Amino acid sequence: MVDAAATTHQYKKDATIAVVGGGIGGVLTAIGLGKQGYEVHLFEQAQKFSEIGAGIAIYIENFDNSLEASEDATVTAGVKELSLNRNGDDERHDTQGKSRTRGVRLHIDKPARDAHPDYPSEPTVFECDLCIGCDGVKSAVRKALDLGGTVRYTGSYAYRGLLPMDKAVELCGEDIRLPKMWLGDQKHILTFPIEGGSILNMVAFVSDRSKPEDQREFHGPWVAPSSLQEMQKDYQGWDHMVTELFPLIEKPEHWALHDLLPLDTWIKGRVALLGDASLPHNGAGAGQAIEDALLLGEIFKHPGCNADTMPEFLKVWEEIRLPRANKQMVHSRRSGDLYEFASEYGNDYAKMGKEMETRWDWIWDHDHEADIERAYALLKERGF
Ligand SMILES: Cc1cc2nc3c(=O)[nH]c(=O)nc-3n(C[C@H](O)[C@H](O)[C@H](O)COP(=O)(O)OP(=O)(O)OC[C@H]3O[C@@H](n4cnc5c(N)ncnc54)[C@H](O)[C@@H]3O)c2cc1C
Repeated sequence: MVDAAATTHQYKKDATIAVVGGGIGGVLTAIGLGKQGYEVHLFEQAQKFSEIGAGIAIYIENFDNSLEASEDATVTAGVKELSLNRNGDDERHDTQGKSRTRGVRLHIDKPARDAHPDYPSEPTVFECDLCIGCDGVKSAVRKALDLGGTVRYTGSYAYRGLLPMDKAVELCGEDIRLPKMWLGDQKHILTFPIEGGSILNMVAFVSDRSKPEDQREFHGPWVAPSSLQEMQKDYQGWDHMVTELFPLIEKPEHWALHDLLPLDTWIKGRVALLGDASLPHNGAGAGQAIEDALLLGEIFKHPGCNADTMPEFLKVWEEIRLPRANKQMVHSRRSGDLYEFASEYGNDYAKMGKEMETRWDWIWDHDHEADIERAYALLKERGF
């Protein structure tokens, strides 16, 4: 039980919002809404924030205004900033030590009801005007709302690892600093630089498409430690340039990749879902969550948005964002097929290359400002 009365901060907006899940979607949602003056409580089941993935591709120019508006130069800074505070202290210090107040109260080690069995803490009971479930692909909030959204094993798993770039360059030459993808039958490998070029991020995929998409099953933990031997076995005969890098991965991990079937709606009354929309094949799941969170913050900035009217504002947000998220899910899966010679182009490199020239334009060229304009036009039409 969380004692909301312990709050001393004066909020501009008289409404309390609970955000469930402190991944990139939840953290940005909480910061964005807190910044607009709402009393925001962020609940995260894990005991601490830590890095899980690495490298997020976003087309930053689209977001300049919104990110500036929330005073977050980078998303990582936002996460670091929140992680400095446990359960309740509302005054934050940014990475330079500057104090800020955002109206976000952080409750870590706090699962929502029906949380994952790995986190068997007491369920949290909390009263609020609005709840946003940002609790990932296994979402307990989605389950509780009974909104559908079957989670499916895709038939693919991925090895993920981080390598020191200087050692990778010693082995493979300077060329390895550039982002690369190795394509093959039922497998592909992606490498790209992160941490200012000091680390090479590797994600190596292996798929089994022998069963129809709705009959692929995975039993066991979705993320598990793996080994060099497993990786070498899966990629026997592959280009030395990439397989010679495998021993540099300190702790390879094995990720079973699951996705959701598209949803008809994200909203039930005063509860909504946000975030994990897609597979990694478009490299856009986190970017999608960021776009969703930023638009929500912009819409909730409207002076007419309050505890009574929030459901109407949520509907406008969903109307704009849901089609894009659903497209992302399907498109991402098909991108995986394309890389692994399982699309209509097979291994015809000329046709694959042509497709890849424009395949992701709709993601990169997305106009976030136009989304905001459309949202405000819809709100006006609806009397706000
Ligand atoms: C192998 C792989 C590679 C990827 N590569 C990229 C990439 O390069 N670029 C990109 O944009 N995307 C990538 N993605 C996708 C991206 O990681 C996700 O789309 C993104 O992390 C989703 O963020 P989220 O906040 O919606 O969900 P999550 O990151 O899943 O966060 C959910 C949070 O909710 C918490 N939680 C869960 N249940 C509860 C509960 N009951 N109560 C409280 N808290 C709860 C969890 O602990 C977690 O912190 C990749 C994904 C995979 C698997």
